[in-house]
Amino acid sequence: MPKKGKLFVISGPSGVGKDTLVGLVLPGSAGLERVVTATTRPPRPGERDGINYWFITAEEFDRRIKDGEFLEWAVVHGNRYGTPGPAVSEKLEHGISLVLAIDIQGAKSIRNEMREAVTIFIAPPSFKELEKRLRGRSTECDAEINGRIRTAEDEMAHMDKYDYAIVNTDLEQAAGELKQIIEAHTG
Ligand code: ADP
Ligand code: 5GP
Repeated sequence: MPKKGKLFVISGPSGVGKDTLVGLVLPGSAGLERVVTATTRPPRPGERDGINYWFITAEEFDRRIKDGEFLEWAVVHGNRYGTPGPAVSEKLEHGISLVLAIDIQGAKSIRNEMREAVTIFIAPPSFKELEKRLRGRSTECDAEINGRIRTAEDEMAHMDKYDYAIVNTDLEQAAGELKQIIEAHTG
């Protein structure tokens, strides 16, 4: 039987750089895959179904909750997001390690359900820089950006519950730290 894969849960405020960091670390990491989660939010320009998210209807989301198909799910910034349970357990059983970028509510649920998961919090160098990144990304309107910054203040209070914290100041350095953590648990 192959050695079980590791689950790496990456969390932190919106706009801190989670997707960017995962995108940098994945290509050079054999045996490591990203979990594609499901959401009821509409795709942003350029986002593709099955690549960025599984974009599903509210009815389909309800059905998956009812049928117990989510490992965890949460309402984040007004939309619902959920981690597909069977896909995660199947890959882990087959020895494939997984990176799961989810919000802090989701990370808390996973921590309670799967004690062996490795949790990593990504923090911004400052709120000012976080705001700059959110505005620079240009994927949300002003009201949404302001909401995400307000939420970030609460989210930061959860940092000490994680196994690791990385401050994403310099992208290359933060990606290196993330890679090191992953290698330390999979090597
Ligand atoms: P998240 O997935 O956490 O919501 P993103 O990965 O979408 O965040 O990053 C938000 C924005 O910040 C993107 O435009 C990204 O290019 C930029 N970014 C990420 N990390 C850094 C960094 N270390 N320095 C400057 N800009 C960054
Ligand atoms: P966005 O809409 O900006 O892509 O994502 C908003 C937030 O939802 C991000 O913090 C992202 O990590 C989180 N998220 C994405 N998928 C899931 C999921 O399956 N469960 C939870 N709890 N959060 C998720």
